[in-house]
Amino acid sequence: MVKVITKDVTKIFKSKKKEVVALDKINMEINSGESFGILGPSGAGKTTLMRIIAGLDVPTAGELYFNDELVAASNRLIVPPEDRNIGMVFQTWALYPNMTAYDNIAFPLKSLKISKAEEQKKINDIAEILGISHVLNHYPRELSGGQQQRVALARALVKNPSILLLDEPFSNLDARIRDSARALVRRIQNELKITTITVSHDPADIFSIAERAGVIVHGKLVQVDKPSIIYSKPITVEVAKLIGDLVELNGRIEDRNGATYAVVDDFSFPINKINASNVRLGIRLEDLKISKESSLGSDWFLVGRARVKVSSYSSGLFRVTVVPPSNDNTEVVVMMDKPFDVGEEVNLFIR
Ligand code: ADP
Ligand code: MG
Repeated sequence: MVKVITKDVTKIFKSKKKEVVALDKINMEINSGESFGILGPSGAGKTTLMRIIAGLDVPTAGELYFNDELVAASNRLIVPPEDRNIGMVFQTWALYPNMTAYDNIAFPLKSLKISKAEEQKKINDIAEILGISHVLNHYPRELSGGQQQRVALARALVKNPSILLLDEPFSNLDARIRDSARALVRRIQNELKITTITVSHDPADIFSIAERAGVIVHGKLVQVDKPSIIYSKPITVEVAKLIGDLVELNGRIEDRNGATYAVVDDFSFPINKINASNVRLGIRLEDLKISKESSLGSDWFLVGRARVKVSSYSSGLFRVTVVPPSNDNTEVVVMMDKPFDVGEEVNLFIR
């Protein structure tokens, strides 16, 4: 298995009019057999990085190593793509429409000059693992989205690659089968222990597949951590917002009886002691709750009285906007599993 190391990998696209720094000194180490995720908004440089690792493009500066072997450096392709032993699945899956599933999967084996029997065994084995044995003689148009994706995955895996690259592999699937597709990829990665890099703009992909993840924003790697740490300790507000909605507020620091609060209108948010007079708060919606009760147990702190201003509903949750009783200016959004009436007075809590 292979460890992937990038040293100051930089990619600059130059055209007559402008220069785009797609990757800016990316330094990372992906361990052998690891399932690594890369999260970043559209245009962050994710696909560019995958193409450089695959050998479809070269870095403008910096070096790429597989274990101790230098595979690419400053505009030099040292190991060509066909010698990198990489399996890749793109967002579009890129199946050949005029070939059956079997022939699509067989395609990468053509260069190996193996016997028909050997080829058949490899294809049957991988088809079995992916649950597509019964559709091998179908054409892509005769397959469901989930089956097409599994054919693309089988094609990427049939040569026993040492690195698997998945570029937004789930975004073309129906939302209702995305979870099972993620679980399948996670299971196969775990069984085969292939060094796997999954890039996506969707944190759900990263949370379900990656043991560790890097966050790329504007071509820069800004954080590498376990997904749970990226969630709980995002390094910037921008990173925090890639993972979910935030309530953002400007607070004034007040000390009361030895405790520190960030005060916003009539709301007082308990926070750790800090040496500042003002603070910008970013609060995850799931860490806020409203209730008629005056206490919700030891995990929840009372922030203050609030009035329901707007209430909407989507996919099983009520999105409720509350404001302080005295004015309409400070809006706080909470996600609740039951409805509240506009105008209702409640208590606002934070976890
Ligand atoms: P992502 O996959 O994260 O959405 P990309 O790696 O595709 O981002 O693109 C990163 C940046 O590089 C974008 O600004 C994009 O427009 C630019 N870019 C990508 N490929 C090329 C190219 N071949 N020529 C010029 N600019 C490019
Ligand atoms: Mg992309």
